Amino acid sequence: MNTRIVRAACPHDCPDTCAMLVTVERGKAIAIQGDPDHPNTAGVLCTKVARYLERTYHPERLLYPMTRVGPKGQGRFTRIGWDEALSTIAARLRDVAARDPRAIIPYSYAGTMGMVQGEAMSMRFFNRIGASRLDRTICSSAGGTGYRYTLGAKTGTDTEQFVNAKLILIWGGNPVASNLHFWMRAQEAKRRGATLVAIDPYRSLTAEKCQLHIAPLPGTDSALALGFMHVLIRDDLLDHDYIDRYTLGFEQLRERVADWTPQRTAAICGIDAGQIEALARTYGEAAKRGEPVAIRVNYGVQRTHGGGMAVRNIACLPALVGAWRHAAGGVLLSSGDSFPKQVNRLERPDLAPHDPRRPPRTVNMSTIGDDLLREASPEFGPRVEAMIVYNANPVAVAPESAKVARGFAREDLFTVVLEHFRTDTTDYADILLPATTQLEHADVHATYGHLYIVANNPAIEPLGEAKPNSEIFRLLAARMGFDEPCFADTDDDLAAHAFDATDPRARGYDWQAIRQAGWMKLNVPDAPFAQGGFPTPSGKCEFYSERMRKDGLDPLPAYIPPRESRATAPELAKEYPLAMISPPQRNFLNTTFVNVQSLRDTEGEPHLEIHPDDAAERGIADGDLVCVFNRRGTHRARARVSDATRKGMVVAPSIWWKKLAPDGKNANELTSQSLTDMGRAPTFYDVLVQVAKADTAH
Ligand code: SF4
Repeated sequence: MNTRIVRAACPHDCPDTCAMLVTVERGKAIAIQGDPDHPNTAGVLCTKVARYLERTYHPERLLYPMTRVGPKGQGRFTRIGWDEALSTIAARLRDVAARDPRAIIPYSYAGTMGMVQGEAMSMRFFNRIGASRLDRTICSSAGGTGYRYTLGAKTGTDTEQFVNAKLILIWGGNPVASNLHFWMRAQEAKRRGATLVAIDPYRSLTAEKCQLHIAPLPGTDSALALGFMHVLIRDDLLDHDYIDRYTLGFEQLRERVADWTPQRTAAICGIDAGQIEALARTYGEAAKRGEPVAIRVNYGVQRTHGGGMAVRNIACLPALVGAWRHAAGGVLLSSGDSFPKQVNRLERPDLAPHDPRRPPRTVNMSTIGDDLLREASPEFGPRVEAMIVYNANPVAVAPESAKVARGFAREDLFTVVLEHFRTDTTDYADILLPATTQLEHADVHATYGHLYIVANNPAIEPLGEAKPNSEIFRLLAARMGFDEPCFADTDDDLAAHAFDATDPRARGYDWQAIRQAGWMKLNVPDAPFAQGGFPTPSGKCEFYSERMRKDGLDPLPAYIPPRESRATAPELAKEYPLAMISPPQRNFLNTTFVNVQSLRDTEGEPHLEIHPDDAAERGIADGDLVCVFNRRGTHRARARVSDATRKGMVVAPSIWWKKLAPDGKNANELTSQSLTDMGRAPTFYDVLVQVAKADTAH
């Protein structure tokens, strides 16, 4: 009688956005499971979110507002009331805004992917103040930009259709760890006879289970795609009718790839020319036979200097062979643009003041280390005086971490953090505000890995004095004296306007109905580009992009090499000869689950995978403590000597909380703030390092 089942949505930064069922007994959540009726979730949650109750009821949950009592970085706080917290924040922000509101920076990302607890009431608040805008680039903007130039929007093959593909290229991702429900479909396709191919410099859990694994050097995927195109065109493995009708710039592309022979490509990618020939022919011949061939490209390929171009080049492949004719053919990077989101209605950019003396300023979240340390200047604008951080943990996540920490340690910076736990970032806060978890608030979700809107109903009352982000910004708006009616919108109001119900894709969107049903599939065709209709300016798949030319980029597919590699930075490589990548640790999901003991126990301690030859050269044995270093910083980890990584490359599974690592550091000590070719994104996998046994390292 006292037990009920609540429909919920997984809020985390994962393409799967699972529909969940939460069992609540006498006000307490006692069980959580995947909704068996939701087609994408199919009753399965990953190991991380299966422990969501451990996270929600964690003894270290932040339950009350706190104020700092020790030096920044030490994480010493004392409890205060909401009234004092809100008054203090409002007073400090008013003071900064009186000088220049652009000195206030919101800093947020995908700590929750919900449209209500993400950028709705929060952005109304920051727009109304006239705060700096935040360029939210930390994860996906390079690839997203390259994909949009080529195909027009972040959309593509429906994940559910992959079961019918005969050949699947899993390119730059490890879905076993971070796209589980796609992986379930890929395995089903394999059972039905499909060939799975992993393209990844690292032999990940996924690559181990594919029939074929190709391991190009980090940052060379765009060259590999050019080599594939060369073979497809050279051997006439093309769908000429599709190319003629639905693509733009084929002749220029033909010229461009003419000298991307398998031999040249192989030399750049560090693989055999025969592998390139064989895979390109397998792809083209399967398509010629009329079989569905599909590519699941993921964000791993776009974390190097030429990352945007790499995704663009890969996105050209399906149009060449006419793979889009099949529902199970094509490519998927993200389904995010399939959703008719009403961003402006939620965020209200019209609230921003128009002051010609203070043109709007945008700060890039990926260079926050440098930007927090920057003085005022005509180019930069005012020095950053206040940061409000929510749904993010930049001190652990942002690149070149030592600089980020130095910036946050500035005594004259006023920092507020909305959080569930005392993270690496909260240690630098002036005021901490306890935020609710997904079980304690309402939300509605689009996703970037399937085509369902998913509803989240609150399952339990907020713990302690925690409040939803939306409510915190509502209260702050009231303290600031903002009296526009939009600040009185409830979470239900926000959810009701999250999607455009007049758009054919979400026709009939009705928040009250969806919160009962749990989810709703978008109304989009199974084979979205079978007859062209790409949302590009030409309506075609653009091998040639005039927009790119106007944006100062090469309008044709090209190879943009990594900044830090033996080939492009030989002097640097003499000192730091090993390329480092830092893909997601299976049980962490960025930094969200690192403090959940059972999951951290599974991962043990920070480790570094190193090839046996590289280890032997350095006298490193499996299990040794090693020091990884470059000019930006240093970090210690336990060596795992393994041929899962290429010679010349090390792998640092991430992202550890710095304070939970023995040396108080993580791999982002070593990453750089250099940006990608497009999308202004970080280059997390474009890093040269050296490794030494910890007792011999400097
Ligand atoms: S993290 Fe991803 S796979 Fe895990 S429950 Fe959430 S949406 Fe599903």
